[in-house]
Amino acid sequence: MASKYVMNKLLGVYIMARKPIIAGNWKMNNNKAESKALIEELLPLVKDAQCDVVICTPFTDLWTAVDLTKGSNIHVGAQNVHWAEKGAFTGEISAKMLVELGVEYVIIGHSERRQYFGETDATVNARVKAALAAGLKPIICVGETLEEREAGKVEEVLVRQTKGALADLSKDDIDNFVIAYEPVWAIGTGRTATADVANDTIAIIRRTLGEIFCPKCAERIRIQYGGSMNPKNVKELMAQPEIDGGLIGGASLKAVDFSQVVNY
Ligand code: PEP
Repeated sequence: MASKYVMNKLLGVYIMARKPIIAGNWKMNNNKAESKALIEELLPLVKDAQCDVVICTPFTDLWTAVDLTKGSNIHVGAQNVHWAEKGAFTGEISAKMLVELGVEYVIIGHSERRQYFGETDATVNARVKAALAAGLKPIICVGETLEEREAGKVEEVLVRQTKGALADLSKDDIDNFVIAYEPVWAIGTGRTATADVANDTIAIIRRTLGEIFCPKCAERIRIQYGGSMNPKNVKELMAQPEIDGGLIGGASLKAVDFSQVVNY
């Protein structure tokens, strides 16, 4: 039986050990009016979702998103956070500022930030610690490039990124963050990792989480797949024992597409 299910001895049935979580990453898209329209269309479409539903909007849309989703099952996330509490960091946003707005989640270490904005394992770790300390739930992105996969370095890269991102965390933190495995070659390319490859690679991450915390702890941590996940491939990906959800880019910008992923 798949590891994301556990036997409930009292009921004699297998139940989900980890609640799936589907998060949309809007990236740098949608102004206020577009956000409002998208959220209003989405709300009724996902109201019966069996998974946790998150939308990660640009900073400028967070207030609108928090306001429109109040009392609903949609949670709101940001796409980055600074590690300092406050100070001379022009253009940055602190974890406390996000919490005060009503934001619950934050994407940290997305490959686009690593690629274009100099994000490193050390800065990812600093942001993760600041987010957790403020009560935000980080969605921590890891993933190899095509060159790294072709060079046989997948395990080396993922172990380094995972250990780097989670340095100094304790077992008390394990229910408060999510890992997103996003192979860089599958993001925005329409090229999805096959369900088998995604599952096997996530198993490497879970094994690493077991080494960092403990094997039983690792069984509790949710790991998403991200990279061209859409209504057509979601079922097969979500059927994999190691895949606990998705981080969705392109398909999260259309309410119907995102709702079909959420309601897989
Ligand atoms: C992403 O940006 O995190 C992502 C997975 O994008 P897409 O779904 O468009 O590949």
